[in-house]
Amino acid sequence: MNFDFSEKEEAFRKDVRHWLETHLPDDLRGRSFAASRADRDEVRRLRAWQKTMSEAGYVGMDWPREFGGRGASIVEMVILYQEMARAESPQFVNRGGISMLGPTLMKHGTPAQQARFLPKILTAEELWCQGFSEPGAGSDLANLQTRAVRDDGHFVVNGQKVWTSMAHVADWCFLLVRTSPEAPKHKGISFLLVDMSTPGITVRPLRQITGEAEFNEVFFDAVRVPADNLVGRLNEGWSVAITTLAYERDLLTFIRHISRLVQRQKKSVDPIVRQKVARLWIGEQALALNGYRSLTNILRGGAPGPEGSTSKLFWSQVDGDLAQVATEVIGPYSQVTHGSPWAPDEGQWEFYELLARASGIRAGTSEILRNILAERVLGLPKD
Ligand SMILES: Cc1cc2nc3c(=O)[nH]c(=O)nc-3n(C[C@H](O)[C@H](O)[C@H](O)COP(=O)(O)OP(=O)(O)OC[C@H]3O[C@@H](n4cnc5c(N)ncnc54)[C@H](O)[C@@H]3O)c2cc1C
Repeated sequence: MNFDFSEKEEAFRKDVRHWLETHLPDDLRGRSFAASRADRDEVRRLRAWQKTMSEAGYVGMDWPREFGGRGASIVEMVILYQEMARAESPQFVNRGGISMLGPTLMKHGTPAQQARFLPKILTAEELWCQGFSEPGAGSDLANLQTRAVRDDGHFVVNGQKVWTSMAHVADWCFLLVRTSPEAPKHKGISFLLVDMSTPGITVRPLRQITGEAEFNEVFFDAVRVPADNLVGRLNEGWSVAITTLAYERDLLTFIRHISRLVQRQKKSVDPIVRQKVARLWIGEQALALNGYRSLTNILRGGAPGPEGSTSKLFWSQVDGDLAQVATEVIGPYSQVTHGSPWAPDEGQWEFYELLARASGIRAGTSEILRNILAERVLGLPKD
């Protein structure tokens, strides 16, 4: 097995590294994992950054050329993300649009939908939020109750979504609705694209443990959505949603940050700290190798399968450990929040330590992932 990158790939790495060094604005450098998507000003800066990256051809690089990408290989995408992490660049603010909705529209959207929506996802001119979860439909997503009824060229939507990240700043929402209440749970669902400025939509922020409100409750009261905004076929939204969810993944981007932190705090001689950092490093290597295994499978024509649950499960564990170790290394100052002159790295560690608690919940809880691994990968009996 050869884990080395080819000459062409290394040349690409050199280019992107140089580009990031010269273009990443100072006020965004160092915000690779704790950039706030709640603060409107920060979202504005992140939008501008994504636009700059998109003009340089670095957003949606793996998208086919006909859809505004470069048709780059997944390996180049990995290199791009590695270099963004190295430069401590924030992730793309419109990542739900880029990595979830984009591929979904390419597979299930009409040519008109693709032409209308894809370009503005890349430039972040239109920010997207994901309207899937409801108070009674999280892990059991197919239980969703938000209704949509056909009426004169429109769908009329009534119901409630919850935990909708960025709904307060999003221009559009990709929404799952129930269009056939009589059908079995998975069969009566449809996938709609909803303009967030449509009358009847109310967004209420939910304050999180981090102190900020990055996600929201969203209420739909007789919201009229043009029938042309249906993606895929009526009542077949579940298979569309499966495409979207297959692309929902997170990247571990911050291990470098912690090793630098340890040196700065002069704790690199402390044997206990060294052991903990070594364990994190090993965890990160295991994640990277597992990622390469999935990549190899995809490069050979395979599709992401249930074994991907291992990475998400283990990632959320490493994420929590990382926050914990950072807190120990920094000591009591790790608790000082943004805005205080005593807060290391502008309070990112305090924010991150709290944010990391969500890692085992979003994009599939750890319990659900363990069930998937037990039943679908190991083939254990359900009961
Ligand atoms: C930071 C964050 C951002 C999010 N952003 C979005 C977003 O933008 N859009 C969106 O639609 N959703 C979003 N979510 C929602 C997320 O997808 C759900 O929280 C997640 O699917 C879990 O659903 P739930 O919260 O309803 O918990 P529940 O499904 O009610 O689960 C509660 C607990 O029961 C356990 N449990 C449930 N069923 C089983 C089972 N069968 N076996 C064993 N244990 C079980 C779970 O593991 C969990 O511990 C976000 C969540 C977080 C934390």
